[in-house]
Amino acid sequence: MKIIKAEVFVTSPSRNFVTLKVTTESGLVGIGDATVNGRELAVASYLKDHVAQLLIGKDAHRIEDTWQFLYRSSYWRRGPITMAAIAAVDMALWDIKGKAANMPVYQLLGGASRNGLRAYGHASGTDTEQLFDSIREHLELGYKSIRVQTAVPGIKAVYGVAAQTQASGERYDYEPAGRGAFPQEEDWDTRAYLRHLPTVFEAVRNEFGPEIPLLHDGHHRMTPIQAAKLGKSLEPYDLFWLEDCTPGENQEALRLVRQHTTTPIAIGEVFNTIYDFQSLIKEQLIDYVRAASTHFGGISPLKKVMDYAAQYQVKSGFHGPTDISPVGFAAQLHVGLAIHNYGIQEYMQHSDATNTVFEQSMTFKDGYLHPGDKPGLGVEFNEEAALSYPYQQAYLPYNRLIDGTVHDW
Ligand SMILES: [Mg+2]
Repeated sequence: MKIIKAEVFVTSPSRNFVTLKVTTESGLVGIGDATVNGRELAVASYLKDHVAQLLIGKDAHRIEDTWQFLYRSSYWRRGPITMAAIAAVDMALWDIKGKAANMPVYQLLGGASRNGLRAYGHASGTDTEQLFDSIREHLELGYKSIRVQTAVPGIKAVYGVAAQTQASGERYDYEPAGRGAFPQEEDWDTRAYLRHLPTVFEAVRNEFGPEIPLLHDGHHRMTPIQAAKLGKSLEPYDLFWLEDCTPGENQEALRLVRQHTTTPIAIGEVFNTIYDFQSLIKEQLIDYVRAASTHFGGISPLKKVMDYAAQYQVKSGFHGPTDISPVGFAAQLHVGLAIHNYGIQEYMQHSDATNTVFEQSMTFKDGYLHPGDKPGLGVEFNEEAALSYPYQQAYLPYNRLIDGTVHDW
């Protein structure tokens, strides 16, 4: 099962994606996702200029050995670019192994631990009426758990609110990265947000009742004491989780948050390795692991961090925005189906253009996802379609406070 070719594709069907395609001498092909939103060409170069040649002649079956070789031999470990590149190789090799075994990847990870994967969708609105409509739309689509994001009075543009228009014409919550040569500027006021958000959850609970699991993303914008205050003020509304309440770099902050609130905590979409979660899991400072297969080194480390988390009753809540390509998304569905400590999966639906380039076999029915039973990951990469969507420069927005200071977006 020798690898004879490793090719990198950068394509932009609605948004940019970086895809690795690995071909073996037997003709089996595997694909992997290496997309880092806003820095796509850096990871494409990492793969093309530094990794592809190292794979030629290697045995595609040796997934763990290849992962360790790429991680340790680079000397400069971790970081989003390195770990996305390694992730793409890892996914492609799992895809090949599944095809060689004629089994979906989840079977190779131990088989299904459940029938389907509970998913949550993103509802948002600039006012209560629009937010309620968005929640109803999601319920009609089958979602049984809903993330609630809202505009804040006095703030012009806030992360996660769909009604804000994008220059590209895409829904903002679907693709916040604006195309062009410079990131768009947004504004932020934490005090206004902390005052407003509990009133929104109060209204949502009054309208939709106590049962539906509700989630919220703080997007790394609060100090520890602000996050603690928010968690406490949201307790009456029984959130499924409060996500990214403080910046991901300072994991110590969650110790303080934890001391003050019983609102469950989720974090980790910007984490790259198990070491970022080491203390958080062991000290039970979080409830959900938000890692994404694509930014965490692939399927192999995602399975390992979840096995570690299982000992502490910490569950999965893998990052699933649309900048995780259908390949990366499939990778985490296979892990989610196999592990015992599955929690929930974020699911934003990819656009028709994306689905033309990446033909997915996963399903979403009655609020539950399933990766399907095709051998490997179950995603086909259509190279011809990819060619008709060339890369377009795009940047995620950034925030400034009212006095002009740059703030976490
Ligand atoms: Mg988040």
